[in-house]
Amino acid sequence: MKMTVTEFQAWLADFGQAIEANKGYLSELDTPIGDGDHGNNMARGMAAYEADFAAKQPTSITDTAKILAMALISKVGGASGPLYGSAFMGITKAVKDIVEIDSQEQLGEVMEQGLQMIQLRGKAAAEDKTMVDVWLPAVAALKKGQLTETVVHTAKEHTAELVAKKGRASYLGERAIGHIDPGAASSELLFVALLKYL
Ligand code: ADP
Ligand code: MG
Repeated sequence: MKMTVTEFQAWLADFGQAIEANKGYLSELDTPIGDGDHGNNMARGMAAYEADFAAKQPTSITDTAKILAMALISKVGGASGPLYGSAFMGITKAVKDIVEIDSQEQLGEVMEQGLQMIQLRGKAAAEDKTMVDVWLPAVAALKKGQLTETVVHTAKEHTAELVAKKGRASYLGERAIGHIDPGAASSELLFVALLKYL
């Protein structure tokens, strides 16, 4: 694989489209175990990114990632904005001196910096029923050159079996069982969108 700034930007544009197309679904997932706004939050953030992107026309991967990070941090009201924003700030730093990403393994190292920022900010560990439950196995698979739709989808579905330890769903205790975590579902969209470019 070779991911230049062109593919990186195409990936994020695809992700934005997937968020828009799944906005209702993501907010529906957030209704029984949250406040029903995850789809709208993410769609607002991605729309802000697209506007800033058009205004600034970034020409490097790092500048592109930074525009997304800033849009998500500043325009999304929910917990997910600062968390995804931190992830893309970590990615911004990881690709600071990289013109293009040459392998799935290298992309895995980059995404791992994003994951670490999510965990630094949100303090969620594996099995806490958050987006981290998709990022952890997706990053591990990338680092081995083995990311597939199944890896990501299985990880998202698995969150239904968990009791939440972080975020709004944690107030529900056992009642969260049976419900997929909305942030895990939006993270599935992010990593599935990536598959086209591997
Ligand atoms: P809010 O909960 O503020 O309404 P959203 O609905 O947009 O924000 O996002 C909820 C998602 O954020 C959850 O489904 C979960 O995946 C993620 N999340 C919440 N808290 C944390 C955390 N501490 N660490 C990682 N992810 C978290
Ligand atoms: Mg919410």
